[in-house]
Amino acid sequence: MEQYNGRSVNGGIASAPIKIYRKEEVRIRREHVADTDAEIGRLELAIIELSDEFRRLADRAGENVGEDDAELFNAYIMILRDEIFIGTVKETIKNERINAEFAVMRVAQGIAEMFSAMEEEYMRSRAADMEDVADRLTRVLIGESSRPFAIDEPCILVAEDLSPAETVTLDKHLIQGIVTVKGSVTSHTAILARMMDIPAMVGVPLDLRSIKSGQMAVLDGFNGVFITNPDFETLVKTKNRMEELARESEELLSYRDLESITTDGKSISLLANVASTRDLDAVEKSGADGIGLFRSEFLYLEGRSFPDEEKQYRAYRKVLETMGDKPVVIRTMDIGADKQPDYFGVEAEENPALGFRAIRICLKKPEIFKVQLRAILRASVYGNAKILYPMVTCTWELEWIERVLKETVEELEKEGVPYKIPLQGIMIETPAAAVTADLLAEKTGFFSIGTNDLVQYTMALDRQNGMLDDFYRPKETAIKRMIEFTVKSAHENGILCGVCGELAADISMTRFFIDIGMDALSVSPGFILKLKKHIRSL
Ligand code: PEP
Ligand code: MG
Repeated sequence: MEQYNGRSVNGGIASAPIKIYRKEEVRIRREHVADTDAEIGRLELAIIELSDEFRRLADRAGENVGEDDAELFNAYIMILRDEIFIGTVKETIKNERINAEFAVMRVAQGIAEMFSAMEEEYMRSRAADMEDVADRLTRVLIGESSRPFAIDEPCILVAEDLSPAETVTLDKHLIQGIVTVKGSVTSHTAILARMMDIPAMVGVPLDLRSIKSGQMAVLDGFNGVFITNPDFETLVKTKNRMEELARESEELLSYRDLESITTDGKSISLLANVASTRDLDAVEKSGADGIGLFRSEFLYLEGRSFPDEEKQYRAYRKVLETMGDKPVVIRTMDIGADKQPDYFGVEAEENPALGFRAIRICLKKPEIFKVQLRAILRASVYGNAKILYPMVTCTWELEWIERVLKETVEELEKEGVPYKIPLQGIMIETPAAAVTADLLAEKTGFFSIGTNDLVQYTMALDRQNGMLDDFYRPKETAIKRMIEFTVKSAHENGILCGVCGELAADISMTRFFIDIGMDALSVSPGFILKLKKHIRSL
């Protein structure tokens, strides 16, 4: 039994076999083959195997995840049946007498390049599908699992580090906990673990070569302790503690339909932070008053190409229809810094957190921004939507946003497409915005304070840098003053103000938020009932 200490990013206890996550790349070499018929036979078998797997994944996606994924796997099956693709691969094997995996890769690359050069966004996104199918097919051919990383049973995921894009594509329902060697407590990976409501730790000094997938482990997210090869006594203690926690969660459900109000009659809305339509069940269970932050950028991080207007429209509409009359705050994509989709092609920056991110990308690339605005405006017909713009620093940006929105509305009008313009607000997450909140409040519909970035920029503290976790002090006077001034400015201008950064879930801050008149706290769905219980005791 070995014990490791690290920093907790989410409480909870897990006991499960380890699954080690490694970034792997398949290397394919060109090889000469003597028997090309046998090679084509090998290709055909691999196609059958992969088609069966796509069919299983499509069925499972239809049941558990969402129609989008089911559609994707059905489209993948069509690619495997495509005469041009498969026919050309077979011809290449025959004519050049080369191995199937090399032929698949080369033909797919050619087709993907052709798609990428096309005008229509739809065709361009087919390039990524082609590459994904080819990647999986070559993996089957060389005898690996078709997926770069597949989770087939409950596990504690252990990794050197995880990017938000990697975390969001993991098979969440089987992951019982996350442990990383690197990472910081306010990174988006940590935030995703909180949204998944599973115990998680970062900064665990593990040598990944000394442990193996399948080895038993115990994770105590409350105390930041990770144990590999636990002895019998530890396993029994863990099991008892897990049963106790399950009873506590059950008990918390009795708060679901109660008001979020203090004993002296002050109420505050409790909203949920989500990253995907997959989080909606957890929101429902939590009895949230609405969605206070839909981090739409995860739609961009999940896929291998830009989510087109239809895909985004369907996601927003689904969230809005599920929430009924309750408000849903859709934040426009906050891409950049640690949230980088590979296909975006943003050049490496010296200081990405201070760089080309969020609203700056949207304003400089209106063709991308407009696709999202169109999807949100169209979906807004189906519920109580609000739009939230991230990383705003001054009123001048609001004027620019207004112009892009106006053009988008004109286009929808011209096409006769039904739409609704929702109330628009801004994140207060830069010191510039916080200290000019009085001016910004005159020009916008609501405020949502993003304490994660507000702390990073105010305290000059990179939120990605785990070495600085001890310096991460979100309750310092500098931050409290900014929060207080922001709420006061909002109310003087008759608009609402909430907090959607991680500080909203810190129960030692709840009294402060209520005393200064904060209107809403938006937290991970798994935290809502705990927070409500606390508020009702104040
Ligand atoms: C924040 O900065 O506090 C916030 C809510 O946004 P994100 O964590 O996604 O940057
Ligand atoms: Mg932020």
